Amino acid sequence: MDINLYSTLSNNYSSNSQKIRVLTEKWALENIFCPSCGGIISDYENNKPVADFYCGSCSEDYELKSKKDKIGKKIVDGAYSTMIERLQSDTNPNFFFLNYDKNSLNVSNFIVIPKHFFTPEIIEKRNPLSSTAKRAGWIGCNILLETIPQSGKIFYVKDNKVQSKNEIIDNWNKTVFLKENKNLDSRGWLLDIIKCIEKINKKDFMLNEIYQFENYLRLKHPNNNNIQAKIRQQLQILRDKKFLYFSSRGKYKLR
Ligand SMILES: [Zn+2]
Repeated sequence: MDINLYSTLSNNYSSNSQKIRVLTEKWALENIFCPSCGGIISDYENNKPVADFYCGSCSEDYELKSKKDKIGKKIVDGAYSTMIERLQSDTNPNFFFLNYDKNSLNVSNFIVIPKHFFTPEIIEKRNPLSSTAKRAGWIGCNILLETIPQSGKIFYVKDNKVQSKNEIIDNWNKTVFLKENKNLDSRGWLLDIIKCIEKINKKDFMLNEIYQFENYLRLKHPNNNNIQAKIRQQLQILRDKKFLYFSSRGKYKLR
């Protein structure tokens, strides 16, 4: 994989944002494989509203966003209402995020965020455009990268280093079970528990360590009266899905 974006193709465009759009799309088409099956990705016709790329083998869709300089905490995306609508349906594409250095045009980071990590919680509503704007009143959204668990940010390139293909596909497969969970609330619970496990930041951990997040989880789920029982139930689901193993009573090990 060559991490440089430059191509003479961009000479045909005058606007900088168009240039970058063309270069990043071309680069992704030539360098990025489908993280779900390892197959090649193809591009949709221009301006197809659903997504930018698709995999012909497993039919996953991908949308590409790019940003110069640092990754940052949030990514600016399209209309808020469209985004929220998509989350409720099955048409939400997976998300490619490319971050580049504007001087060297090297790809600093390239991430895929699987669509099953998208919940209303990670979508931030922006202020409506002012009355003097061309599209006055229009409301956009931001994707809050920070609120997405680490396991939902799968790197192809991390700080200019290309990651192994097997690892990328393996990382995708670890959480693909979340896709089966169409109910945003129950999927939200699993994502919350995954986040708690990541905060412990150990391959082996104890049930008691997860219980330390009881108050945090109660604030997020005020209608649940038995958080500890819910935690154990979620850990069982994560075990059944092979995200983790039970090593002995009250002890867990990440896959
Ligand atoms: Zn595929």
